[in-house]
Amino acid sequence: MNLENLIRENVKKLSPYSSARDEFEQFTKPMIYLDANENPFTNGMNRYPDPQQKELKTIIADKNNVQKENILLGNGSDEVLDLIFRVFCEPNRDNIITLPPTYGMYGVLANINAIENREVFLNEEFQPNVDAILNAVDSNTKIIFLCSPNNPTGNSFDDSAVIKILNQFKGLVVIDEAYIDFSNEVSWLTVLKDFPNLIITQTLSKAYAMAGLRIGILYASREIISVLNKIKPPYNINGLSQETAVKKLLQNTLSTQVRKILVERNKLIEALSKCEFVEKIYPSDANFILIKVDDANFRYQQFIDNGVVVRNRSNQPLCENCLRISIGTKEETEQIIELLKTFNNAEK
Ligand code: PMP
Repeated sequence: MNLENLIRENVKKLSPYSSARDEFEQFTKPMIYLDANENPFTNGMNRYPDPQQKELKTIIADKNNVQKENILLGNGSDEVLDLIFRVFCEPNRDNIITLPPTYGMYGVLANINAIENREVFLNEEFQPNVDAILNAVDSNTKIIFLCSPNNPTGNSFDDSAVIKILNQFKGLVVIDEAYIDFSNEVSWLTVLKDFPNLIITQTLSKAYAMAGLRIGILYASREIISVLNKIKPPYNINGLSQETAVKKLLQNTLSTQVRKILVERNKLIEALSKCEFVEKIYPSDANFILIKVDDANFRYQQFIDNGVVVRNRSNQPLCENCLRISIGTKEETEQIIELLKTFNNAEK
């Protein structure tokens, strides 16, 4: 892979906006800061946040055994995905490959950025059709998006399929690991160094219980990170989010909460398996379950009428009559299980 050839022409020439304090270690020396037109009255938020998010990146880097130079943070992983498009894809010329049924934002971002989205459907087992994917590649294919564990199907992709794509595709491979902490699979981060074309995205929104903070994580080679840094908005992670995420990550509640969520997932699977209207429960490596039901629109409305919002995924390829249900608390699961018993008896 030649990274230089993959970068958008205007980005190659770009020098990044230099924010007021880029050259300084923020606020560690007793300087008088009159460089950024801030209000000098201290209230905990009168100063601009660290544009490089050094403290937060150091914690994330240590937890994941990478260097902080391998990390870019975004306002949710949706922002880092958008930055990838804007660095690497030339509008009205380039294309990307996505594997429906999958996370909808890749296609939305492709549309926003005027990039063709070549859809190569997953196979019946919701695994990548590797040969079809490689056949869809042409000289303008910049990125292949793999979501593993995949949303909305819940499964992880086979290692052999991912490895083959990483080895054979000369562009970038993005593996979206938003749900990796619910999975028994090992993160692709362990082989980040072996594949210069690999970008991994993760998020604090799911297992880490910080969706409200909007913090997405992108891991890649230093070279890829430094080009992405060229176009990153200077203060894209606000100060309160940085501070709160640092505190919460140090509390280390991840494994306890994940374990609890997985217990509830098993309970819900067991209850669903007793429901006549449920035709199939797809295996899940995530904090949601995809089920095929007799009539998704009817069942979706039935949930709504009983005060429960699930996601109707029937409009996605291979997902006819499918609902996606997120795993809630123990109490919420108990309520859903009681509700399911009444659904069983409901006349359609
Ligand atoms: N990737 C996947 C697969 C997702 O399901 C989601 C959220 N539903 C995201 C990325 C975005 O996560 P966030 O922007 O909250 O980090």
